[in-house]
Amino acid sequence: TAFPGDDSGNLTPRQTPGVLYSKVIPTPVEKVTLLAWSAELAQELGIANPDDELSLAILGGNHVTDAMYPYAACYAGHQFGGWAGQLGDGRAITLGEWETHKGNSWELQLKGAGLTPYSRRADGRAVLRSSVREYLMSEAMHYLGVPTTRALSLVATGEPVLRDMFYNGNAAFEAGAIVMRAAPSFLRFGNFELLNSRKETDNLRQLVDWTISRYYPHIQGEDKIISFFKEVVERTAHLMVEWQRVGFVHGVMNTDNMSILGLTIDYGPYSFLDDYDPDFTPNTTDLPGRRYAFGKQPSIAYWNLGCLAAALLPLADKDALVAALETFKQQYWQKYYAMMGTKLGLDQVSRLDTDLILQVEKTLATLKPDMTIFFQLLIDLPLYMGSAEEVAAYFNESLYEELTEAQSEQLYTLISAYLERLNKNTIKRQASQELMRKTNPRFILRNYLLHQAIEQLNEGKTELFEQLQEALKDPYSTKHNAFFQKRPEWATQQAGCSMLSCSS
Ligand code: AMP
Ligand code: MG
Ligand code: MG
Repeated sequence: TAFPGDDSGNLTPRQTPGVLYSKVIPTPVEKVTLLAWSAELAQELGIANPDDELSLAILGGNHVTDAMYPYAACYAGHQFGGWAGQLGDGRAITLGEWETHKGNSWELQLKGAGLTPYSRRADGRAVLRSSVREYLMSEAMHYLGVPTTRALSLVATGEPVLRDMFYNGNAAFEAGAIVMRAAPSFLRFGNFELLNSRKETDNLRQLVDWTISRYYPHIQGEDKIISFFKEVVERTAHLMVEWQRVGFVHGVMNTDNMSILGLTIDYGPYSFLDDYDPDFTPNTTDLPGRRYAFGKQPSIAYWNLGCLAAALLPLADKDALVAALETFKQQYWQKYYAMMGTKLGLDQVSRLDTDLILQVEKTLATLKPDMTIFFQLLIDLPLYMGSAEEVAAYFNESLYEELTEAQSEQLYTLISAYLERLNKNTIKRQASQELMRKTNPRFILRNYLLHQAIEQLNEGKTELFEQLQEALKDPYSTKHNAFFQKRPEWATQQAGCSMLSCSS
């Protein structure tokens, strides 16, 4: 090993000073059954479909080949705003790196493959519920065009896993499962924070140098650490704008869940917005603070980047790091307005347009329509709208509650301003609508749909799961209109359909 102190194979939960990872062999499971396979990703990676026993065994952690080097990474992090100390892969085990024929390298990782030195007091396992959520949502985000880790396979383990079920508070057994995830790297802000907190400056420098040479190879020269950090800032700003675009709420934006490559990572208690509510957090653990609410994600990202900057302090000039951190705001707003411009089908975004964009945001936050349906309706908006009643009737399909007279007026004012602006577009209406169709998803993986699919899977029924798996590959088309509807009333009340806990 390149790093000192790696006492391999020791699964005792412990602090591992001096170590960036520990070698860990997955703990075998009872019976591996393949539930899902991402054929497109497999093809991209050049991995054959798992139609023999040995391949299945690998996906369940029951077989490790000679070419693999399984390990659990050691990292730390800030959780809910406080320093949490050493964390690490508590149930994820990286099997090794896979090189594609194009020369790209991917880390392949089993999530739920058993105890590691970083499992603390937990079991190292994952349940079917959370594994289905990770598998489907990471693939959905990919097809939406949002930077993300991927999922290659989902297997059942044939082993029950004990969980504190969120909907009744009683412990209960759930089916166990394992997802094989893939990403160029699973490195998080927390990997860097760990080394700084331990004052392991040599290890920190090695990790930063390695990260740059491997994932940011175009960055060279004396200022490379600042350039690297600036690029992480930019990628993170881009990611936040993408989450805002599709209405994704991550739910646990702790610094150990922030990718150094700007990918969406760690699919836990996430949710898409149904009704547009900037204060919505899907994470029951995040109440009442709502630190990770939809509208706060960009500022939390900035805060998290501040933690990363602090971790890099031993290697770079403080003022330069702060200056790089401060580029976040400009990066974010520039990208945000550009994105909103395309969401609204504008040819360009002028200073006046930013007012319109803020007016859209404000109106949505007041009326709380279904975000996805609202923007779909906006694409086909008639170019003449005679009255507030007419406008309200047109958007009715997206509304969860009847509008008050004041709200109806507010919507009418917005739509009038929007139509006036469309009138000034220098691109044809059709081109503007094309832009909107590419930017506004029509199919989103709503939490209640996931909930239903998981309930059915637990009864051995795969139909809805398979339908969702198909629909998520084509989120901008009208092909999956069967799912084009608001969250139903029953799902608003039922636990697990909008709010989820961290435990999974
Ligand atoms: P998360 O909130 O998902 O980011 O998890 C926080 C930390 O808890 C990470 O270090 C995870 O590896 C660890 N963890 C979560 N669930 C389990 C589990 N079932 N067994 C072991 N470690 C876990
Ligand atoms: Mg995590
Ligand atoms: Mg997690």
